[in-house]
Amino acid sequence: MAWCDRCDLRLEEDEVSDEGACIYCGEEPVEHRSSAWYVKVLVVITVIYLGYRTYQGVTWLVHHV
Ligand SMILES: [Zn+2]
Repeated sequence: MAWCDRCDLRLEEDEVSDEGACIYCGEEPVEHRSSAWYVKVLVVITVIYLGYRTYQGVTWLVHHV
């Protein structure tokens, strides 16, 4: 799978030219796989944080109702 940074677009096979460039801007697309773990870590951290905030909110409610 290829990704064009300039177009901010995921490129299908037929959207990459014979030279291996993006057909819209001519930029060489990047492999998107390298950043996948980073995105996953971010998602996990966000979920944990939101879960913690929800827990705090529930605890606050229990003590104030
Ligand atoms: Zn492009």
